[in-house]
Amino acid sequence: MQDDIILNVSDLKKYFNTAEGVVRAVDGVSFNIRYGETLALVGESGSGKTTTGHVIMGFYSPDDGKIIYKNRYDLSAPMKKRPLELKRDIQIVFQDPGTSLNPKRLVKDIISLPLLIHKTIDKRRIYDKVAELLEYVGLSEEFMFKYPHELGGGEKQLVAVARALAPQPSFIILDESTSALDVSSQAKVLNTLVKIQKELQLTYLLITHDLGVVRNISQRVMIMYLGKIYEEAPTEKFFKSPMHPYTQMLLSSIPTLSEEDEKIKPKGIESIGEIPSAVKPPNGCRFHTRCPFAKPVCSQRDPPDIVLDSNHIVRCWLYE
Ligand code: SF4
Repeated sequence: MQDDIILNVSDLKKYFNTAEGVVRAVDGVSFNIRYGETLALVGESGSGKTTTGHVIMGFYSPDDGKIIYKNRYDLSAPMKKRPLELKRDIQIVFQDPGTSLNPKRLVKDIISLPLLIHKTIDKRRIYDKVAELLEYVGLSEEFMFKYPHELGGGEKQLVAVARALAPQPSFIILDESTSALDVSSQAKVLNTLVKIQKELQLTYLLITHDLGVVRNISQRVMIMYLGKIYEEAPTEKFFKSPMHPYTQMLLSSIPTLSEEDEKIKPKGIESIGEIPSAVKPPNGCRFHTRCPFAKPVCSQRDPPDIVLDSNHIVRCWLYE
């Protein structure tokens, strides 16, 4: 593994048994994340993006594949086998701070809990540290003495970010962390995330369906569909020259704000139908039931990874 890689995921699989059958939520996913970057994992609901993040967090054990962190930790091992320093080093910020923050605790207690668990600071200095963490995320010291219900949506999410920062992690999974917020709160939280990333040299895995957020904060993008990754590119290239028909479909469906954006929006490919069930995913390319360019081979064989240039990979028979 190269020295600049913080996380290496190879051929990761996670299946769930349900009453309808086996859901192949993540079905052979491989990627790297570099130190200090924000990698966006994008897809519709049911694509497997959140399951991928939760396997990395250790909420589920993978059924197959490897996850290597910092060249020395095997994250494919069960959560209980992870050492405390590893649990400290990887944090997550969930979508809904309303449910992820304990409503009966004051903000100072919510943020100080991970400080106590991970013993990252002397007990006597704990509330100074809480105030410092609040300041990092742009909230004043007075917020220490508020309950979550006294906060707005953006403020709650900033408290959740401060809590994630408390154990001094290197890597944070942002699991749809701004999706439930209004536009102005979203901008505030995103700006804060960018600021603290630079100051604290953090690495982010951004899990989202929101391409506007991707454009604002990520350096690379991966598109996931029914458990597999179909395109991977640097963010600028992703928006300027999307190659996979599914990526083009997603981009053509987002509202644009400027004439410039309208010019680069893919034309002639519209959203067709819904994502099929992950219990019985289509054979071959899983997107073929919705793809206007599908050829006979698409329903028979899985497309290979096509390397368009050093940073741009697409999985589609059109480019073979
Ligand atoms: Fe469409 Fe075939 Fe490409 Fe899949 S492999 S996206 S079905 S053209």
